[in-house]
Amino acid sequence: MKVRASVKPVCKHCYIVRRGGRVFNFCSDPRNAGRHKQAQKRGVRLTPKFQTYRTTA
Ligand SMILES: [Zn+2]
Repeated sequence: MKVRASVKPVCKHCYIVRRGGRVFNFCSDPRNAGRHKQAQKRGVRLTPKFQTYRTTA
Protein backbone atom coordinates (compact mmCIF):
# COMPACT_ATOMS: atom_id res chain seq x y z
CA MET A 1 0.00 0.00 0.00
CA LYS A 2 1.23 3.41 -0.93
CA VAL A 3 0.68 6.29 1.41
CA ARG A 4 0.25 9.56 -0.36
CA ALA A 5 -0.81 13.07 0.33
CA SER A 6 -3.64 12.72 -2.16
CA VAL A 7 -5.44 9.61 -3.30
CA LYS A 8 -7.07 9.23 -6.66
CA PRO A 9 -8.24 6.31 -8.74
CA VAL A 10 -5.60 4.79 -10.97
CA CYS A 11 -7.84 2.78 -13.30
CA LYS A 12 -11.54 2.42 -13.94
CA HIS A 13 -11.74 -0.45 -11.45
CA CYS A 14 -10.49 1.68 -8.60
CA TYR A 15 -12.81 3.07 -5.98
CA ILE A 16 -12.37 5.48 -3.09
CA VAL A 17 -13.35 4.39 0.40
CA ARG A 18 -13.43 6.50 3.54
CA ARG A 19 -12.63 4.35 6.52
CA GLY A 20 -11.90 5.56 10.00
CA GLY A 21 -11.33 9.11 8.91
CA ARG A 22 -8.83 8.05 6.28
CA VAL A 23 -9.24 7.86 2.57
CA PHE A 24 -8.30 4.66 0.82
CA ASN A 25 -8.17 3.65 -2.78
CA PHE A 26 -8.93 0.04 -3.56
CA CYS A 27 -9.09 -1.75 -6.86
CA SER A 28 -11.73 -4.31 -7.75
CA ASP A 29 -9.46 -5.72 -10.42
CA PRO A 30 -7.42 -8.49 -8.74
CA ARG A 31 -4.56 -7.99 -11.16
CA ASN A 32 -4.09 -4.41 -10.02
CA ALA A 33 -5.47 -4.64 -6.49
CA GLY A 34 -2.06 -4.71 -4.86
CA ARG A 35 -0.53 -2.02 -7.00
CA HIS A 36 -3.42 0.39 -6.90
CA LYS A 37 -3.97 0.22 -3.19
CA GLN A 38 -3.40 3.63 -1.67
CA ALA A 39 -4.00 5.39 1.58
CA GLN A 40 -4.13 9.09 2.16
CA LYS A 41 -1.62 10.54 4.50
CA ARG A 42 -3.21 12.07 7.52
CA GLY A 43 -2.22 14.43 10.24
CA VAL A 44 0.20 16.45 8.21
CA ARG A 45 0.85 19.44 10.32
CA LEU A 46 2.25 22.60 8.95
CA THR A 47 4.76 23.09 11.69
CA PRO A 48 7.93 24.94 10.96
CA LYS A 49 11.05 22.82 11.00
CA PHE A 50 13.14 25.55 12.45
CA GLN A 51 11.95 27.81 15.16
CA THR A 52 13.56 31.15 15.27
CA TYR A 53 14.17 32.80 18.56
CA ARG A 54 14.71 36.49 18.69
CA THR A 55 17.53 37.45 20.87
CA THR A 56 16.96 40.65 22.69
CA ALA A 57 20.14 42.60 22.81
ZN1 LIG B 1 -7.11 0.04 -10.16
